[in-house]
Amino acid sequence: MHCKRRNHMGAHVILLVILGFGLGPVAAGAQRFESVAPQQGRWLKGNTHAHTLESDGDSSPAVVAAWYKRHGYNFLVLSDHNVWVDPAKLAHLVDSSFLLIPGEELTTAFQTKAVHVNGLNIPRVIAPRTDSTLLGTVQKNVDAVREAAGVPHINHPNFGWSLTPEILARVRGDKLIEIFNGHPLVHNNGGGGAPGMEAAWDYMLTSGKRIYGIATDDAHHFTGEFAANRANPGRGWVAVRAQRLDARAILGEMEAGRFYASTGVELDSVAVFGREMRIHIRQRGDFRFTTEFIGRGGTVLGRTGANPAVYRLTGGETYVRARVTDSGGFIAWIQPVFVVR
Ligand SMILES: [Zn+2]
Ligand SMILES: [Zn+2]
Repeated sequence: MHCKRRNHMGAHVILLVILGFGLGPVAAGAQRFESVAPQQGRWLKGNTHAHTLESDGDSSPAVVAAWYKRHGYNFLVLSDHNVWVDPAKLAHLVDSSFLLIPGEELTTAFQTKAVHVNGLNIPRVIAPRTDSTLLGTVQKNVDAVREAAGVPHINHPNFGWSLTPEILARVRGDKLIEIFNGHPLVHNNGGGGAPGMEAAWDYMLTSGKRIYGIATDDAHHFTGEFAANRANPGRGWVAVRAQRLDARAILGEMEAGRFYASTGVELDSVAVFGREMRIHIRQRGDFRFTTEFIGRGGTVLGRTGANPAVYRLTGGETYVRARVTDSGGFIAWIQPVFVVR
């Protein structure tokens, strides 16, 4: 009897293997998530997009940086339009819990289309570049940031309905893109037939581009009334698991996808190994959570109200990312992990 069962199971495995060869990626057993280094260190909260009086913000760099420090952020990039603010002038604000990473928002246009690319951890101001095409203009600014050993991210693609998913998918050399920007005029959700930023992200991921989604403030207004129609701080950020409060360490983790983006939901951990993704959500009051696991083409692969939220590969996935929405409407976006077989 014992022997018989083993034979039966053996035949089953062989059958699956044959089916797998014949029909493509059907056998879940052959699939696993790409190995992801275990997350170490602490979560560091940061915003990579904020403006000051050096361009069109309403407060000095010191006032802006102090706002973020006071509100528990661990790092900040001041990203004025075509202006580089020297963090050395704000050294009195920097300590073991708060880091200023130098940056700039390279700001230009192709015809009527806005092209805004942030440069993070760049050593000096970079002049924005133009080209004879929209794609070329975006690419040249991404390249300009890389040439200065900085980290680029393309900003608010739906601002002025400027950058379509097709354009974004064709840009090379960028690993980060704004999927949420706190400015009131950037159309994060799309509309009128134009895709929102999450759909654009899935388009890029489905095309095979490895790109991670960030949330930023794009804050301009630190004085006067805080209102939905003003560009106030505190709306979108990233939480990066890093060993050190150091610009290269933080940006290295971000470009490897070891972070999440948020408008209010916090996580304790994200663990990925073998065929499983497991998300521990930090409980807040009596809030409840819905976690959706999303794959190729933006398809929702699974949905759960449990905490931790767990997804196991079922076969055929090419990438899996997750979105946790709380009962107040705030969101955390967990980065995509690619599937190998
Ligand atoms: Zn901008
Ligand atoms: Zn901006």
